[in-house]
Amino acid sequence: MSIEIKVPTLGESVTTAIVAKWLKQPGEQVAADEAVVELETDKVSVEVSSPSAGVLGAQAVAEGAEVEVGAVLATVEAGSGTAPVAAAAPASAPAPTPDTASSTGSYLPQPASASANASVQADVPASSAQVAKPAPPAPTGAPAAAAGEVGETDYDLIIIGSGPGGYVCALRAAQLGLKVACVEKRATLGGTCLNIGCIPSKALLQSSENFHEAATGFAAHGIIIGEVKLDLARMHARKAEVVGANVKGVEFLFKKNGVTWLKGAGRISAANTVEVSGEGGAKSFRAKSIVIATGSDSISLPGLAIDEKQIVSSTGALELESVPKHLVVIGGGVIGLELGSVWMRLGAKVTVIEYLDRLVPGIDGEVAKAFERVLSKQGMKFKLGHKVIKVETSDAGAVVTVEKAKGGTSETIEADIVLVAVGRRAVTDGLGLAEIGVALDEKGRVKTDGHYATSVAGIYAIGDVIDGPMLAHKAEDEGVALAEMLVGQAGHVNYGVIPAVIYTWPEVAGIGRIEEDLKAEGVDYKVGKFPFSANGRARAMNSTDGFVKILADRKTDRLLGAHILGPDAGTLIAELATAMEFGASAEDVARICHAHPTLNEAVKEAALATEGRALHV
Ligand SMILES: Cc1cc2nc3c(=O)[nH]c(=O)nc-3n(C[C@H](O)[C@H](O)[C@H](O)COP(=O)(O)OP(=O)(O)OC[C@H]3O[C@@H](n4cnc5c(N)ncnc54)[C@H](O)[C@@H]3O)c2cc1C
Repeated sequence: MSIEIKVPTLGESVTTAIVAKWLKQPGEQVAADEAVVELETDKVSVEVSSPSAGVLGAQAVAEGAEVEVGAVLATVEAGSGTAPVAAAAPASAPAPTPDTASSTGSYLPQPASASANASVQADVPASSAQVAKPAPPAPTGAPAAAAGEVGETDYDLIIIGSGPGGYVCALRAAQLGLKVACVEKRATLGGTCLNIGCIPSKALLQSSENFHEAATGFAAHGIIIGEVKLDLARMHARKAEVVGANVKGVEFLFKKNGVTWLKGAGRISAANTVEVSGEGGAKSFRAKSIVIATGSDSISLPGLAIDEKQIVSSTGALELESVPKHLVVIGGGVIGLELGSVWMRLGAKVTVIEYLDRLVPGIDGEVAKAFERVLSKQGMKFKLGHKVIKVETSDAGAVVTVEKAKGGTSETIEADIVLVAVGRRAVTDGLGLAEIGVALDEKGRVKTDGHYATSVAGIYAIGDVIDGPMLAHKAEDEGVALAEMLVGQAGHVNYGVIPAVIYTWPEVAGIGRIEEDLKAEGVDYKVGKFPFSANGRARAMNSTDGFVKILADRKTDRLLGAHILGPDAGTLIAELATAMEFGASAEDVARICHAHPTLNEAVKEAALATEGRALHV
């Protein structure tokens, strides 16, 4: 049977691609899911795989030719010859066939599936396009069977949880030749980050920023567009599309790297066994190593029940069906301020109640103060140094009772929605950890040593479920480091150089030490600051709030920390992360030629300012 290989959907606005390279030639045998041709667009390079095992027929287009989405690239004669054996599988292992399809259910042997395959291809994040192509997936993971039954399939590594920690660990381990499965109970891969965290929040932040800029910022540029209207349903739909593309991208990467998705809730029933309870029952799988990457979940205050309608967590706040008149945010941390910004830009009055007398504990105090001023200027109200006593709800809305953290008379605030953003806790329930002796720390996180090993041999943990900042990139880097350690390499995470970003406008970004800590420790340091109001590009953008602050050792000039409040701070911090990773001095940064006019020039000027020689202030 002849099956067409077509140009997949390549993204929202991409209609054509260039045929960069044929990876297989006519007459060559191809395995199902084996890449046959490489396409390039201005955004991404994508490998297109054969939907079926067989022999490649004629190529319809030559290298260098431009092809439209949906165009036929080549045909494959399904069932002709024998598909190549997977490199990482035993020599006798057959290529996947419909009968031995992996438990992802995403193995696509039929022509009808070709387009589905293509759409999955289209969802590959640009950054993933360079991932090395490992062997096609070995046949693994049979349908769920009766509880306690032991699966025929053993793995080198089973990871519980497919968030940024788990899925990245799975991909790296598979690249290194391990046979890997990842257990995920959610209907889609990608964890908190891709489903209900980083990605949907950034989608709404971007949309609301566009809305706000169109409504309030365009006129200053001489652009008159009349009344700006909000289509909230469309905004949510776009967010869902962004999430969908990302979670499908992870599913594609699993397939591409031969990682098996075991669908269901995982429990460690013995030191080398994971029981997976899915739709069809429970089934056990053995593994040489097990990784707990079960992430974190939002918490509430005592006596405050989240109903995701009037009293919402971040998950509910990402799904509000209308713009609240008054949103009260409990907690002045990153998530509260990001989601508060979203709804404020869309028209809500937003009041933030924070127990401490400052915002975002952990970031540089001077930056936090300036950030508070900028958000206040935008209209956000703050009740710092206040605690919530109770929240009462009725059909008319919610009434929040607060009083000063130090005590005093109470006052009430009426709101239609209350967002509880007071922190997150490690997810360890239902994993069977106590039964097998995996120790937790005083905060309920899985205790690990410097190699992510838990108190039970062969069981490891990474990401939000262990100590450290609850950040997606920290989880990812731990996943990579652990996978490398498991094969005897020297995996490493530099915890001193992990950037943290708040994606409001302006953004806030920080890395390394904060000034308060240096002071407290008696470190001899110097400070260099440069305001965006003196940066040409920031003026051109009409975005001059904020500054770059660099902390360096007074004697050695080595960079100790950097903190930015300003436009695109989250991107700007990468330069300083690179510099710090290489042990650079402030002078090193100052001597790098920075393009003009860019926001990065403010970084260079702040580095110069550590020696009192900034040029443009
Ligand atoms: C609203 C919001 C915005 C955020 N924005 C950012 C941001 O911009 N940048 C950033 O760096 N971080 C951000 N974060 C934090 C980020 O999401 C987390 O740090 C990151 O997701 C942690 O990754 P993880 O792999 O440790 O766990 P998670 O992403 O939490 O994934 C854990 C997965 O394990 C699964 N699981 C749990 N138990 C089981 C079980 N027994 N069996 C099977 N599966 C199980 C869960 O279903 C989940 O899918 C945000 C978080 C939220 C809530």
